[in-house]
Amino acid sequence: MLSTSPFRAPRGVAGLKAVNIMATTTAATACSLDNYLVLPDTSVDERIAAARRALGEECVILGHHYQRDEVIKFADFRGDSYKLSQQAAQAEGQYIVFCGVHFMAESADILKRSRQQVILPDLSAGCSMADMAEIGQVEDCWEQLVELGLTSDSGDRLTPITYMNSSAAIKAFCGERGGLVCTSSNAAGAFRWAYAKAPKAFFLPDQHLGRNTGYAMGIPLSDMVTWDPYLPLGGLAPEKLRAARVILWKGHCSVHQRFLPEHVDRVREKYRGIRVIVHPECRWEVCQKADALGSTEKLIKIVREAPPGSQFAIGTEIHLINRVAKENPDKRVITLDDSGCLCTTMFRISPQHLCWALENLAEGNVVNRIVVKDEVKYWARVALDRMLEIQ
Ligand code: SF4
Repeated sequence: MLSTSPFRAPRGVAGLKAVNIMATTTAATACSLDNYLVLPDTSVDERIAAARRALGEECVILGHHYQRDEVIKFADFRGDSYKLSQQAAQAEGQYIVFCGVHFMAESADILKRSRQQVILPDLSAGCSMADMAEIGQVEDCWEQLVELGLTSDSGDRLTPITYMNSSAAIKAFCGERGGLVCTSSNAAGAFRWAYAKAPKAFFLPDQHLGRNTGYAMGIPLSDMVTWDPYLPLGGLAPEKLRAARVILWKGHCSVHQRFLPEHVDRVREKYRGIRVIVHPECRWEVCQKADALGSTEKLIKIVREAPPGSQFAIGTEIHLINRVAKENPDKRVITLDDSGCLCTTMFRISPQHLCWALENLAEGNVVNRIVVKDEVKYWARVALDRMLEIQ
């Protein structure tokens, strides 16, 4: 029987993190972060470089494209979450310092070798989208789908796919039920993989990436439904769920969702001939109006390979747009909206946090270590490995 509970309350995020993930600090002798946060940005450059030199090959710094310039300039490798997960799997040093957000550091901890340790310079660097799919909510949803006869505990008839931007617990949930992880670079491959196994896909947590990917693969909007975790049965009629080919989780990126269709119209009016290129975390209506969409890496490539004089309005995070503009001075590169959308959680990684983490490592103090518990790690690794195998 389906539950008649009118409201499926999420289980506590704090509780989940306490159970599944540990962030540890060898605090006894660690230098205090407070002493670093008062330092001006420029004064820590030399100290970061010195600590980096002292650590030598024992340390690799990974930097996400959305990081600020003052931080990304110290990265040994920069990339989007897909590229950085590959780098984490291949890294040799003992310490992987991840200048990104929490779910990325977790993925690195799952993919790294056993002797390595993953450090997130600021533990408050989370992701609002990842927080929109809490494991208790997802388990409740799945239970309801099982009760409806749409799947089973093992995931036959419905393949779960989670975007990289999700907690390790969600990745493990998908791995255990025959599903996988994807990024914006390989979401279409993940859909193909899923449909080779089952007639339906369950995509979380980003409804927009799921919808844009499904639509580009020829699935009409009428065959996709959106599950609201705050409503009984996701706010959907059973017959709608039975008919759907894709069940999308109602989550979004608070940065990319800010771009609107009218921004596309306005920028085209203002700059004749400008090309609009957007990330698929943007709304479907924005993606439909755009000239092209793609992962962060793809957006960079489109601009880099365009002839001099080309004009682009980009719908993604502002630090990346500003960097692409700087690296392509022969082209006009602007943000799609007027103000520019900033990922405030990525911004939490400051040069001061990086300096603090590196100097502590050089002193032998491991601070802000991200540790995913073994029982979560096993199935999350299965889901990530399936992703790394697809095209
Ligand atoms: S840009 Fe959006 S999806 Fe990416 S880390 Fe920030 S909030 Fe999360």
